[in-house]
This record gives sequence, structure tokens and C-alpha cells, in this order.
Amino acid sequence: MEQKKSEAIILGTKDFGESDLFVTFFSSHYGNLKGVAKGARKSSKRFVNSLTIFSLVDIEFRGRRSSDLVWLDSCELIDGFPGIRSDYGLLSRASYMVEITGILFPFNVSSSDMFQLLRSALGSISNKENIEETTMIFQARAMKIGGFGINVSKCSVCGRPYKGEGRALFHPPSGSIVCMGCDKESALTPGMDPNTVSVLEQIQSPDLSLSSALGFREDTIRELKGVLMAHIEHCLGKRLKSAKYLQPWPL
Ligand SMILES: [Zn+2]
Repeated sequence: MEQKKSEAIILGTKDFGESDLFVTFFSSHYGNLKGVAKGARKSSKRFVNSLTIFSLVDIEFRGRRSSDLVWLDSCELIDGFPGIRSDYGLLSRASYMVEITGILFPFNVSSSDMFQLLRSALGSISNKENIEETTMIFQARAMKIGGFGINVSKCSVCGRPYKGEGRALFHPPSGSIVCMGCDKESALTPGMDPNTVSVLEQIQSPDLSLSSALGFREDTIRELKGVLMAHIEHCLGKRLKSAKYLQPWPL
């Protein structure tokens, strides 16, 4: 079958047979794919140091007629994001990012926006830039790209538009804000002040670059963290294995 080529990020690998490697990767042109790299665990010039989780690579592969699996022909490392590999906290965040990417996008559904987001988020945390902000931007934007954006424009119960005045609540089942007249603040409906609502709107927009000089207020970070975790837990909870790694993050 025809050979295809794409930039990709390795989402995971597993030993397969005696010398092969089973690889899942998110490619910029073809989305999430899984494949087999023959002989990759023996010294193979075709895959030198490239098939490791989180690595940004140039990959060549061919489809197989009777299977979803592809054959990997070659793989070349572009960036291994070395900063992530020497820090347990960053490894946890990166694991969470690749897991969300794998869950949000079924096999063969491509999204170049998602690919660019994952690539820049891994780059930023590897360089130890805006780690907290980058993680939250990744969470908010990945959900939005995957079809789970948070609506901050109006209360999902009474329909009253939110004009940036007073606290608002996040209501996970509707993926939307709710006004203080319709519900009260609780662990299930975390509250946000107007600045947090405004930051939540900004970080969902592709206009805010991850490389900008970011600096969110401490109370904004605390509130947003609660909202994003409640949102992701509600939408993807049962399928997320690495979410438990989020707990040690300082709140
Ligand atoms: Zn309301």
C-alpha cells in the first residue's frame, strides 16, 4: 500500500513479539494511529532513538488492508523534549496530555489544531516555561477542539447573559456557567470570579499563544484548576488513568 509521511508525537509504545514495538502516535495529517515497528528493539537504523513516548518525530508508514494497524517504515527524531524526562512532575503532566489526546480523538480523525497544541504544550513544559498556565491552556483548548468547550456567555439555567460582573458557577453537566441566582457554590459547582471567567474564555481561544508572557493570578489558577478538573472528570473521567497524577499538584 501507499507510503504516507507525517510529523507525529509518540503517545505510547509497548513491546510486541521478540523484537518489534507496538506504537501509538498522533500525526499531524492523519490523527491518532497505531502501528508496528518491525525489529525496532534490535538496533535498527530506521528508528534510531525516536520511538519513545512524547517524542516529536517524522514518521513514514503504510496501511494494511485487513487491519487498523499500520506498518512503520521509518521514524526520525525532531525533538525529544528532554526537559520532561528528568522531572517526575513534568512527566505526569505530559502523560496526562497524551492520554487526553488519545481519548478525545478516535483513530484516523485528524486535527492539525490538536497536533499543534500538543506540540507547543510539550515544548513549553520541557523548557519549563509557564508550566501551570500551559497545563490549563492545554486542558481548556484540547477539550474545546475535541467538542467540549465551556460556554461562559450565559447561565445555562435561566439564560441570563454573563456580563463580567459578580461570581459565576461552573456546572459540569451542562458544560456551562450558571448564575448565583440559579445555584450555589459547592465542590460540584465550583465558583469563579469575573477575572477567572474572562481568563477561561481567553484560554479556550486559539488567539492566545502558549509562548506569550503569561502570568495568571494565584486565585485565578486555583479556581480554574477546580473548574477544568470538574469539566474533564465529567466528560472523560472513567477513561482517564493518569488523572490521579494530578492530585499531587499544589492547589
Ligand atoms: Zn441563572
